[in-house]
Amino acid sequence: MATESNRRIVLAARPAGAPKESDLRLEEGPVPQPADGELLVRTIWLSLDPYMRLRMGTEVRYYPPIPIGEVIVGGAVSRVVESRHPAFAPGDIVDDYTGWQDYAIAQGASARKVDPALGPLSTAIGVLGMPGLTAYLGLVKVGRPAPGDTVVISAAAGAVGAVAGQVAKIAGCRVVGIAGGEEKLAYLTGELGFDAAVDRHGNDVPGALAAACPDGVDVYFENVGGPIGDAVYPLLAHGARVVICGGISHYNATEPPRTASHLAPILFTEAEVKGFNIFSYAAHYEHARRRLARWLAEGRLAYREDIVEGLENAPAAFQRLFDGRNFGKLLVRVSAE
Ligand code: NDP
Repeated sequence: MATESNRRIVLAARPAGAPKESDLRLEEGPVPQPADGELLVRTIWLSLDPYMRLRMGTEVRYYPPIPIGEVIVGGAVSRVVESRHPAFAPGDIVDDYTGWQDYAIAQGASARKVDPALGPLSTAIGVLGMPGLTAYLGLVKVGRPAPGDTVVISAAAGAVGAVAGQVAKIAGCRVVGIAGGEEKLAYLTGELGFDAAVDRHGNDVPGALAAACPDGVDVYFENVGGPIGDAVYPLLAHGARVVICGGISHYNATEPPRTASHLAPILFTEAEVKGFNIFSYAAHYEHARRRLARWLAEGRLAYREDIVEGLENAPAAFQRLFDGRNFGKLLVRVSAE
């Protein structure tokens, strides 16, 4: 180990608008040493997620911003190299927020041992990890779908949206996905079994959505905000539930988003609009993970991964989340399994 070095990607500058590669910097340093209660882990799969853009900014109501010069936060699946915690041994596979780096220190108290029987290792940070749990718990706990409901999902071909839509189908709903481009739309109505799909780049998104939701929208799983959200709110049915899971169209904004236009449809329909943060639902993770794993094993849940090779390519790949060039759960293969 002493001969190896650790590559880390750190925040060089807070992005102004869309993240640029120059906002991030690759550094090399020594492999860290674990203290009592800690693990030294080697990253295998790194998850790239939209929330990281928020952590690169200055918004303090979410989570503390990443200090300049510090490693970028991120969930990862890793192999234990050295353990100084009794519950872990070298060779174990763990999932923790160890960041964009080759080696990291994980805390024995918070690292989760990955059960390889549930699915391929990468699914521990995808369909069976944070995005999958977000989709399931956001939809079930806040969206409360009932059979026959019309459920609309934005960023529907992405890591969260694709699972949310499939869970809504399993719940007996009519599911309409919004995504960017023909290939993603075909994926939604083909492989994922959605009932309809609307292209967010189309000429008349409000008209296309209205045509796809003739009885209105009972549940809206909001991932993007902006003009897409604006197009959905006027279609809300009486008593609709809106799950505010994300607003990626705002993450690069330099001005606060405009939201007042939503007040009338919420008032008239008595819709419930509720923010959702997955980390407030930790008590339900294992139940949700088992259920998703069972559906995966039964072939009722499909997933798609968009894999980038090499830690050094993470900064360029990260930008794809913000222009829709990712297709499925965006992952970086940092080292071989
Ligand atoms: P995705 O895999 O869905 O990737 C992001 C997608 O967002 C892109 O592929 C693109 O899809 C769409 N998008 C990007 N920019 C815009 C834009 N300006 N307007 C409209 N759509 C855009 O990411 P995730 O599944 O990981 O995350 C989806 C959402 O869920 C994010 O908002 C994220 O922050 C949120 N989230 C929230 C959590 C919580 O606890 N609340 C936890 C995890 C995720 P396309 O081009 O196909 O439309």
